[in-house]
Amino acid sequence: MARKVEKTDAEWKEILNPAQFAVCRGKGTEPAFSGKYAHSKDPGIYQCSCCGADLFDSDTKYESGTGWPSFWQPLEAESVETEEDRSWGMVRTEVTCSSCGAHLGHVFEDGPEPTGLRYCMNSVSLNLVSKEGKD
Ligand code: FE
Repeated sequence: MARKVEKTDAEWKEILNPAQFAVCRGKGTEPAFSGKYAHSKDPGIYQCSCCGADLFDSDTKYESGTGWPSFWQPLEAESVETEEDRSWGMVRTEVTCSSCGAHLGHVFEDGPEPTGLRYCMNSVSLNLVSKEGKD
């Protein structure tokens, strides 16, 4: 699928901080419990830190105990894309931003009802904004 936002690594480096670049464009993972949204209960919409696309609603965020912000569903099914990830000797499902391809984290099947899914995200991949002015 064609991306709405296409940039070179050099262009991303200009607008992202080193931690964001390593995770979002390099498929890295921030240390557990290090991210600013790990325990956040603030209401709002979590946007992609790279392109600003709306990704998750705070209403679907829950405390997973993992040290990473966790959600049981994306804002819209099309907001994110998933792909099998066989790195590090594990079989996981990678989650990326549909709009710009940013690495967001992984999704696991040990989440709460109603979906049973756990979208385990990196805080540096997200940017929480107020719902004011949004639908
Ligand atoms: Fe994005």
